[in-house]
Amino acid sequence: MELSAASQKLSQLECPCLVVYAASADKKLIFELKEKEMAKVSALVHGVFDSGRFKASLKEAVFFRNASVCGFENVLVVGMGAKNKINDETLRLVTAAAVKNLNKEKIECATLAVETFRRFLPQAFSAGRAAAEGALLGSYKYEELKTKKGDEKKVSGLCTLQFGLSDKSVLKKFMDGARVGEITSNATNFVRDIANAPGNYLTPTVLAKRAEEAAKGTKIKFKALGKKEISALKMGAFLGVNQGSHEEPRFIIMEYFGGKKSQKPVVLVGKGLTFDTGGISIKPSAQMEEMKFDMCGGGAVIGAILALARMKAKVNVVALVPSTDNMPGGGALKPGDVVTAMNGKTIEVNNTDAEGRLILSDALAYACEKYKPSAILDAATLTGACVVALGNVFAGFFCKDKNLLKKINAAAESSGERIWQLPLVDEYVDDMKGTYADLSNIANSAKGAGSSLGAAFLSQFVNEDIPWAHLILQALLTTRGLATHTTLTKGHLVVL
Ligand SMILES: [Zn+2]
Repeated sequence: MELSAASQKLSQLECPCLVVYAASADKKLIFELKEKEMAKVSALVHGVFDSGRFKASLKEAVFFRNASVCGFENVLVVGMGAKNKINDETLRLVTAAAVKNLNKEKIECATLAVETFRRFLPQAFSAGRAAAEGALLGSYKYEELKTKKGDEKKVSGLCTLQFGLSDKSVLKKFMDGARVGEITSNATNFVRDIANAPGNYLTPTVLAKRAEEAAKGTKIKFKALGKKEISALKMGAFLGVNQGSHEEPRFIIMEYFGGKKSQKPVVLVGKGLTFDTGGISIKPSAQMEEMKFDMCGGGAVIGAILALARMKAKVNVVALVPSTDNMPGGGALKPGDVVTAMNGKTIEVNNTDAEGRLILSDALAYACEKYKPSAILDAATLTGACVVALGNVFAGFFCKDKNLLKKINAAAESSGERIWQLPLVDEYVDDMKGTYADLSNIANSAKGAGSSLGAAFLSQFVNEDIPWAHLILQALLTTRGLATHTTLTKGHLVVL
């Protein structure tokens, strides 16, 4: 979808559909279009509100077919809800709803009247970003694997959304924000594509290829290590997970240095488990097909570095993705087997389904040794226990560094992501000690606190002087197909 700017008066534009937003306060309608020529639009919106057909509640929409106002054939009004609750996230949701309605009506080009929501959101840059994100994230569909015949192949939905506002300087700021939103949304939709791809289509080799292709034309230096190179690095925990599979592992390394040479990089580490059967500790069959999403942490960090590189951000960032599937083949790890991670620590694998922490442990150790980073953030679908604690509303995270913690919270706030800090203390670390090896990949005694225990295990592979955060993405993945608007990587990693 193309996003463009129109600085003419609305009455001078010609376009199949005009989109306006309306809010409410104390059961009264709040709607305004100043141009006299547009009076008919106000009359339409007030008309449906007064008749009770439209309450301007959040995402509620009314489509006026053949309304013919100036150069517009049709008019779509979408509600923003109560005026005092409106923020950038509201604009994202409302714009996503608008685009869905336009697609339903098979409208190919529409003009959004920025004036109708500007008074609620005076910061033009962030409003522009939110509107673009709503439009592009909200129209996402995954249809790569459906065959289409004849007419179905034709695109019959929104192709162009233009933002209309006659104040040129405000519109410029709005569009600057929209361009950033376009970059983050395209990166997010790329991640959704690779996440939705099934395990037999998206093997570790294919994941690496797709990331490499996506990085073309940017300043990202791309490398994907194969089995031999991973062995040479002595990543015994990562390789252990791979040994029951017919698919080769890949260790994806993407480096983007857009900042000063002296600046130490931030390293993003993501779990790239392309399919998790649980291994010998096999998972129950129900919903096992969703285990193709076990690479979403890896996807998220690939998306984040792509977005930063396309924005030409002045930062130094590295994304690391250990990628394999977890299969119960004849050579698979058995419960009780001991593997040795890259930093020399030995690990008893007492449950082969707790494999995410095994592949991440080697990637975290590699990050510390190779880059001496200013901070490490890892993102993973690591522990389902997080959903027990927070449901599907919040993503959980761990961070002991106060400065990094502040930045993460600020980034979540500005991107409309809901995240919640969980506790990590020494008692959890003690519970991850091994009987026969240094560590066990599952807890010895504790019942519950699965997420804290997972984080405690990972903490053993990060140098104490490096600020580190562990983000759990599970909660955001349970909506089937990742096609809904609220999902991972609206950009919270990017804001750092
Ligand atoms: Zn698992």
